Amino acid sequence: MQHPINGKVRLAGPVKRNYCRFFAPSNPLGWADYHIVEERRGTLWVHCHGLKRRKGFELEFVGVPATLRLEAIRLMMGVIRMLRGDGRFAPDTDFGGRFSASRQSFSQVGTFRMSPRSDNDHEHTLRIVDYGEPMQSGFPARLFAAHLVARGQAQTDAKKAEKLFRRAIELFPGEVAQAADTADYDPADGDITGLQIKSNLGGYLGLALALRAQNRTPDACAATADAIARCADWARLYRDHFVQTDDRNDAYMQFWRGLDVLEVAAGRQPGMAASPVADLPGRKSGGFGERLRPVRWV
Ligand SMILES: [Zn+2]
Repeated sequence: MQHPINGKVRLAGPVKRNYCRFFAPSNPLGWADYHIVEERRGTLWVHCHGLKRRKGFELEFVGVPATLRLEAIRLMMGVIRMLRGDGRFAPDTDFGGRFSASRQSFSQVGTFRMSPRSDNDHEHTLRIVDYGEPMQSGFPARLFAAHLVARGQAQTDAKKAEKLFRRAIELFPGEVAQAADTADYDPADGDITGLQIKSNLGGYLGLALALRAQNRTPDACAATADAIARCADWARLYRDHFVQTDDRNDAYMQFWRGLDVLEVAAGRQPGMAASPVADLPGRKSGGFGERLRPVRWV
């Protein structure tokens, strides 16, 4: 596919790219040219040229909402950085790691699939899709949601954090977790990887805490109830740990102390919005219900 090369398409001009190349060689911004091309439906195709010299393949996202232009580049840089040193990318390979923020309570996972592009400029490109999904699944909504949640967790401004968590939930409302998704959860270490992948738990919990920080307790409790509706098994484990370790006595803690997990979960589920990503063509329904396949963690 041909596309024009101009300032609108190219992410960073030659000056910035050359600066990184010579003065910040560890910054993947200098390893390739990054192109952002508008697709027919107004979404974006984000891809690079030059990465294959180091990593064997170029990378691409398709179907990126225009408002996520910069987040797409941040996420792509994170994926590239994840594979340290001389490591090379490969098709039909899963990847995982914590690559969106300096501190985040879960690992992100995704899969590389061979892109069907065959023109000289864009061959040897791997499409980044959601974990275990086929190439045709297009935009990786779960991976982007996890990226926004991780950025929200590192954000100290509660209003900015709230915005990131709300955007993450909008992209991926999350599905109801099964017992197996909670099996690895230990409230003392707080790693919610399985529950993030299945239910976007970090999005709801982050939103609740961002609202609590703004003294918007009823909204914080509502966001928490949304989390509990998706992850009832998690809520039981988390409550015991949370009420013991948080000694504040505000209305939010009273919500947790008086919580009947099953009642909240049952009350929320009938009205819970179905996950729109589950209905996309080419997407396996329930593909995240099974346990994770072995992932190359870095
Ligand atoms: Zn291009």
